[in-house]
Amino acid sequence: MKSLTELYRCGMGPSSSHTIAPENAARAFLSEHGGLDEYKVILYGSLAKTGKGHMTDKVIARTFGNFPVAVEFNTDKKDLPHPNTFDIIGYSGGAEAAKWRVSSIGGGAYKVKGKKSSSPDVYPHKNFREIADYCEQNNIRLCEYAEKFDVPDIRNYIREVWAVMQDAIARGLAADGVLDGGLNVKRKAKTLYETNNVFEDGMTRENRLVCAFAFAVGEENASCGKIVTAPTCGAAGVLPAVLYYYKNKYHYTDDKIIDALLTAGVIGNVVKTNGSISGAECGCQAEIGTACSMAAAALGELFGMNINQIEYAAEVALEHHLGLTCDPIKGLVQIPCIERNAVAAMRAINAVNLANFLTDSRKISYDMVVATMYKTGKDMSRIYRETAEGGLAKAYVSTDDIGGE
Ligand code: SF4
Repeated sequence: MKSLTELYRCGMGPSSSHTIAPENAARAFLSEHGGLDEYKVILYGSLAKTGKGHMTDKVIARTFGNFPVAVEFNTDKKDLPHPNTFDIIGYSGGAEAAKWRVSSIGGGAYKVKGKKSSSPDVYPHKNFREIADYCEQNNIRLCEYAEKFDVPDIRNYIREVWAVMQDAIARGLAADGVLDGGLNVKRKAKTLYETNNVFEDGMTRENRLVCAFAFAVGEENASCGKIVTAPTCGAAGVLPAVLYYYKNKYHYTDDKIIDALLTAGVIGNVVKTNGSISGAECGCQAEIGTACSMAAAALGELFGMNINQIEYAAEVALEHHLGLTCDPIKGLVQIPCIERNAVAAMRAINAVNLANFLTDSRKISYDMVVATMYKTGKDMSRIYRETAEGGLAKAYVSTDDIGGE
């Protein structure tokens, strides 16, 4: 498993696979092959089908800056190594001088065909069972495990991650207006934050505020604001929403929040290593399901739960997202994505509440649900994996017909 610096990435939305990874790959390509006459980037698969809505072409043009670059959308090519594949080609004197075939594998990570990954595995264990056994044998918590094996300054890195998460919430709560893209989606975080429910009690207030925080990050992401992949851009609101609400409610210190983020990171890393965090590969269960699982584990850490309870909470959170499709309307990370962050944040809290009572009777391990999620994703029809060809994307006519989202 790789460092949590590879899981939590600070960057511009709206999509880790469609914007952060192409941007980073283009930058790396230019550092090796800068100064050529011209460049071409060809997007395939899901990148080609939803790249316009996700603004992939704009990010690539911005990254190439003054270098001339053409971006092509090729929706016909089959037999791709990954549903999110693209070529970066450099030309000199009219001839091809350099070419990378790149797979955007989720959460902003990418692989270049024929090149060795530059990021080493830093964790010695491969799945949750191995990690849990190690923690129990050494009497340490999951956050201590992460600190023991990750890069030396991981705590400071996570401190910065938390700062970016909080900034995104603050910006999102202050913003008004309509999101770009043509769906006429109004920002709702501010309204949710400022307006009481008709029957506001402790529970409905908690739900409203958690949702406001999740909407805030989701709306910032949709408008190309700076967010943290957790584990992706599309699902970036779930974890910060839950942590921000409970930090304010119980006044947890930043150090305690960092422990929770480290714990959530271990959970996300298990999915990334043994399953997938890519909507194009396994549907939204891989993005929002994993985010919900991470948020449940983080909350378990804040509440001082033991490792079995944290595992149960994370497992419940992912189990009840199994089969969730990725069907963003117009390829924009807006509907269903933003609202889905809020629903998953509430579900994470419920999973932790259940873990308080039901952990001893559980039958499903975290590793089992991760493997099942991956298999389910592979079995899922291609139209439900970030192609905008099925589900809501297909059913959508106009928000004006139904009075809104
Ligand atoms: S539907 Fe889910 S997986 Fe698909 S783009 Fe939206 S958040 Fe990501």
